[in-house]
Amino acid sequence: MSAALDLTEAERVRILAKTARFNPPPAQLADGRRDLVGLSREELIAELAAIGEKPFRAKQLWHWIYHQGVTDFGKMSTIARPLQEKLAEQFIVGRPEPAIVQTSEDDTRKFLFRFRDGQEAETVYIPDREQDRGAVCISSQVGCTLSCRFCHTGTQTLVRNLGAAEIVGQFMAARDSYGEWPSPHGETPRLLSTIVLMGMGEPLYNYENVAKAMRIVMDGEGIGLSRRRITLSTSGVVPMMDRAGAELAVNLAVSLHAVRDDLRDEIVPLNRKYPIAELMAACRRYPAASNARRITFEYVMLRGINDSPADAHELIRLIAGIPAKVNLIPFNPWPGSPYETSSGNAIDRFAGIVMDAGFSSPVRTPRGRDILAACGQLRTESRRERAGDAQA
Ligand code: SAH
Ligand code: SF4
Repeated sequence: MSAALDLTEAERVRILAKTARFNPPPAQLADGRRDLVGLSREELIAELAAIGEKPFRAKQLWHWIYHQGVTDFGKMSTIARPLQEKLAEQFIVGRPEPAIVQTSEDDTRKFLFRFRDGQEAETVYIPDREQDRGAVCISSQVGCTLSCRFCHTGTQTLVRNLGAAEIVGQFMAARDSYGEWPSPHGETPRLLSTIVLMGMGEPLYNYENVAKAMRIVMDGEGIGLSRRRITLSTSGVVPMMDRAGAELAVNLAVSLHAVRDDLRDEIVPLNRKYPIAELMAACRRYPAASNARRITFEYVMLRGINDSPADAHELIRLIAGIPAKVNLIPFNPWPGSPYETSSGNAIDRFAGIVMDAGFSSPVRTPRGRDILAACGQLRTESRRERAGDAQA
């Protein structure tokens, strides 16, 4: 038992060392100023100490940056003018630049954010009209090392990890776009109140930056999202699932997509390393999974590939005893994709079997089809256009 745990720890160390090589360049501008976004509280205190300021300044700045959403030191009214000027000489409160913003007919808003080194990643705001709020779907990497067959991001090689500032920055820039920061006269209702780490990339292959960013958004004196409002989606990096469970305890979504190893090996190649039995064991261990906070199993519906009644029955056998719900996602095709979406009948039949076994099985309504919502597509379009420009 302990030998097995040691092995998992060794595997975690190996994953962290390997993935850290893809970290972004230091957050410093050409003029030497540094971005305060993305620093932990301790790091912020240290930055201020280096310019001779006391720790309570960090508390003030934290409030302005993360609670009020202010990016201009001149508007931080509890800070005296000379210090505002000193801060502005040394630091910035950065945001990724919205290179493309598209709002769909169904109010889904998709952003392509450009970072300081010119790299780009996608963020999507998905409103929930009934509840008068919505989820911000955030990217964790530019590209992805994994190559799931049905995923457009999987066709792009990993360029780099996103840093903590870039991960938090996507959420803050999405809030900017809706003017969703408190007014000086009181709290504004928050539409952007949930985060799903389901954009480009595998968050558990960029664990340190994702964890740092999530600690920032969960900090009660800033953005203050509860861990119940954050869902991390993974294709199944088993050793890091344990660590995320112990340290962050956010909601977990697992991209299952197939119930037999031979098929999952093919469509989610990470399965060759962490097969279904190991993945399910990690789900059973996941501490945040209680009846109140179920694990979401994501299941992309691929016509004739994984959508038979036998697949549905095997799925309920696999998740038996786990507090779970099954999110059925109609496959979102992209140019050149090797699959088709399951028929409405096949999806209904599948959902019915899962529901009869006592699991909620919502079918994700396709959103924003008119704005290339298949994850990873906007970035490709942008690159194609720029390549076209360069040739012209
Ligand atoms: N890498 C993580 C999170 C990003 S992908 C993961 O794989 O879980 C977020 C979800 O979108 C995953 O469940 C993924 O399988 C699904 N997805 C990717 N491409 C899709 C497509 N073309 N149609 C439908 N779902 C897709
Ligand atoms: Fe990467 Fe997730 Fe796409 Fe698989 S589904 S290639 S893990 S982003």
